[in-house]
Amino acid sequence: MAKLYFYYSAMNAGKTTQLLQNSFNYVERGMETLLYTYKFDNRSGNAVIASRIGLSSKAECFHDTFDIYEDVVKRKTNKTACVLIDEAQFLKKHHVKQLCRVVDELNIPVLTYGLRTDFLGDAFEGSMYLLLWADVLCEVKTICHCGRKAIMNARFDEKGCVIQAGDQIDIGGNEKYIALCRKHYNEKKIK
Ligand SMILES: [Zn+2]
Repeated sequence: MAKLYFYYSAMNAGKTTQLLQNSFNYVERGMETLLYTYKFDNRSGNAVIASRIGLSSKAECFHDTFDIYEDVVKRKTNKTACVLIDEAQFLKKHHVKQLCRVVDELNIPVLTYGLRTDFLGDAFEGSMYLLLWADVLCEVKTICHCGRKAIMNARFDEKGCVIQAGDQIDIGGNEKYIALCRKHYNEKKIK
């Protein structure tokens, strides 16, 4: 039985590296994978998933009206071993439903990787429905500068000041993010 997996974490925990390693493992064994990432994420160029340690792979992009289920039906072969989704926090509720159908109707495992919370500590739509509906929840752990587990994402500007207002998705902004434990997030202490 195929399952829907949600690998969640704070920023910079190595989710994308895990995704690409997982895909590589399937391909190395002669199987195929279908990779997706969010359309408005320009960090790694259009239709490429790139990790911070230098791995990269081509991917299809999903956007708000894109039907992932239909795309998988169109592109799958008898060698398709799994579907991998990067930036899963940007999925909409209807995308998560589509991924459930890929698992339940096509019997193809779906592995999703995303942030649990945004920079205000609120839920992303995609992550919320994955937390509710996924068969398997896996935390990818990373640590705060103090050594505690980081579960929050602080957005800060060029002067190092923590930003606590603004859009949830800030594509192309000059802000940076850092993963912090809850205590240091609330104290706005980024190092
Ligand atoms: Zn801390």
